[in-house]
Amino acid sequence: ASERKRKKGGPKKLTFEEIGGQDNAKQELREALDFLIRHDEIQKLGIRPLKGILLTGPPGTGKTLMAKAAAHYTDSVFVAASGSEFVEMYVGVGAGRVRDLFRDARNRAAKENKQSAIIFIDEIDVIGGKREGGQQREYDQTLNQLLTEMDGIYSSDSPRILLIAATNRKEMLDSALLRPGRFDRHIQVDLPDKKGRKHILELHAKNKPLHENVNLDKIAEESYGFSGAQLESVMNEAAIYTMREGLKEIEQRHLSMSIDKVMMGERTDRESTI
Ligand code: ATP
Repeated sequence: ASERKRKKGGPKKLTFEEIGGQDNAKQELREALDFLIRHDEIQKLGIRPLKGILLTGPPGTGKTLMAKAAAHYTDSVFVAASGSEFVEMYVGVGAGRVRDLFRDARNRAAKENKQSAIIFIDEIDVIGGKREGGQQREYDQTLNQLLTEMDGIYSSDSPRILLIAATNRKEMLDSALLRPGRFDRHIQVDLPDKKGRKHILELHAKNKPLHENVNLDKIAEESYGFSGAQLESVMNEAAIYTMREGLKEIEQRHLSMSIDKVMMGERTDRESTI
């Protein structure tokens, strides 16, 4: 079942150009990935290979997009899972799923004739949370299996495996995951600044007809504190308002209305969880 549930990343290849803003994070990630690409040189110099990259930052900032772009950049197969998929009532099931995930990555790389595989685990904190006291024994087995798999990554040379994990709660992670040789590269994926927000809006406006009165600079200013996912929603909602009014082009006021709607939506979501 875990095999079926697992997202495969889809057939579309995503590039770094399709990620708005995040200039520093993209640069740092590309530099880290060059370690995977220049594997032979790195081995000759005796440099410890890179096994894990941790992406940290608020929800919806593009961490998943980054991992997908990383797979494209390094010509790797992309296998994704979420930490919550490993949580089960029965002891050992989570650990088995971790094993399957790595096996799946190796098999797919072999089948698709790729030198490397990128495994992406979103919400790593769900399985990699701090181990305290006697509780969470099931999670312990899952985490132990993950550590074992990571330690084994370079015992076989082909395919090379790189684990990319994401969390918005880095301080919750067990220190075993942060030790050298595990997730020793951390990249912060922050909320976008105004320039980043404009870039993201432009990317999501690409397939949409905009009226000449649209000023994305202003929309970027009005959407202070929005994540990439929220900005994508703003564009989408604006197109829906446009359709409702029977118009063919998105106008500035549709975008302003959408900003309010997305902001309100977030507030209602938050209230409903209290
Ligand atoms: P979470 O922590 O909730 O898993 P995430 O950081 O992994 O979030 P993504 O899943 O990568 O966020 O982003 C969700 C959607 O938001 C993307 O599919 C995309 O449409 C949009 N998005 C987010 N960030 C960006 C960005 N920097 N550029 C363009 N689109 C973005």
